[in-house]
Amino acid sequence: MSNYNPFEQFQANLDMAAQALGYSRDDYETLRHPERELTVYIPVEMDNGSIQVFKGFRVQHSTVRGPGKGGIRFHPRTELDEVKALAGWMSLKCAVAGIPYGGAKGGICVDPTKLSKGELERLTRRYTSMIAPIIGVQNDIPAPDVNTNEQIMAWMMDTYSMLTGSTVHGVVTGKPLALGGSLGRKESAGRGVMFITKAIVEKMDIKIQGLRIIVQGFGNVGSTTARLLSQQGAKIVGISDVSCAIYNEDGIDIAEVIRQKGDGLLDKVSVKGKRIPLDDILTAECDVLIPAALENQIIDTNANDIKAKIIVEAANGPTSVEADKILAERGILVMPDILANAGGVVVSYFEWVQNLQSLMWEEAEVNQRMKKLLITALDKIVEVAESKNVTYRMAAYMIALKSLSMTMKLRGIFP
Ligand code: NAD
Repeated sequence: MSNYNPFEQFQANLDMAAQALGYSRDDYETLRHPERELTVYIPVEMDNGSIQVFKGFRVQHSTVRGPGKGGIRFHPRTELDEVKALAGWMSLKCAVAGIPYGGAKGGICVDPTKLSKGELERLTRRYTSMIAPIIGVQNDIPAPDVNTNEQIMAWMMDTYSMLTGSTVHGVVTGKPLALGGSLGRKESAGRGVMFITKAIVEKMDIKIQGLRIIVQGFGNVGSTTARLLSQQGAKIVGISDVSCAIYNEDGIDIAEVIRQKGDGLLDKVSVKGKRIPLDDILTAECDVLIPAALENQIIDTNANDIKAKIIVEAANGPTSVEADKILAERGILVMPDILANAGGVVVSYFEWVQNLQSLMWEEAEVNQRMKKLLITALDKIVEVAESKNVTYRMAAYMIALKSLSMTMKLRGIFP
């Protein structure tokens, strides 16, 4: 990963969108900054009796369109500016998808693979208690992100419920079904990436059958995306995770990879295909490249070597501003993260709605409603991109910025 500051990248794109809309700085200055950022130092008693202190964050970028919403990330490189950028992208994503949320994000600077289950639980619970003053069903609703999952959400929900004295299902989303989770939530981000990839290639009169696709990152979002796209007839020619990258021009048996990998990493999987250096997966031969790992993967130093004609951003912030320019000049189409992976937050919204009403929807209904929202958003983005002659990212930013600034104007600045 490069050292680009993700928050500066967020601001740079926002500035470009504001300029394209003819906005003055006053029209959107508020959105260039988060509303609130909380840093916590989380003490944890380790299994050997020693005390370790971990740094954690919760950032609320905007609550102007509704409660803050965004995942919690556990990663050794998590830092405040990364979380600020991720929170900002959540505000834009919810506006693009047209769901009544603002944007927030959280994280802890930790390598969770180095912790025992007990240490992970104590860390999660203490972190939750330390951010509890600013989260809540109507304030800010966390969800899973990199290295966090349903179990972490269960501990967060339980901790918050213990602090408030009653069971509060709606304080987090991405929970296990038994605790008020939604059918379809776990796969929602990857399913949304599949819907968007299919829709965009159909618009270009390209068949999904046999389309050569590379997916970088094989966690929740990447593995689901690869599986669903291969079920649609696409040929997944490359996959990677933090442990290794596998390439096979004849296609990789994704169902078999998932079966062998279990909860582990790709390096323990033996399927047909050659092992290549991690970074080479981004520049290997394919038609569609889907980054589904972390920020700043496609940058000025490798953008010229990308072979794909289409990039669908399953990860948040995988492409730098400089790389975006190079890709646009080369005629490579980029489906931006704030649309492409929005299926995750859309189904989180559905989970929250179900929790508020204490009822459950069928999985087919969840998937159908999500698809409808994403395709409506895609159509708007395509329309703006074509009419204003801008990239899909700029079109998405312009739509989001317009919605956010209109809401800010209607509400006014308190006091
Ligand atoms: P995850 O922890 O389940 O998976 C992350 C994957 O990336 C892992 O396979 C990891 O090994 C891999 N990875 C890390 N560094 C890598 C590298 N240098 N090269 C190749 N692979 C690498 O996380 P996730 O939930 O799948 O999130 C992935 C991305 O999708 C993140 O950008 C996240 O913000 C975004 N996202 C997640 C959701 C969600 O609901 N989980 C929703 C929308 C967007």
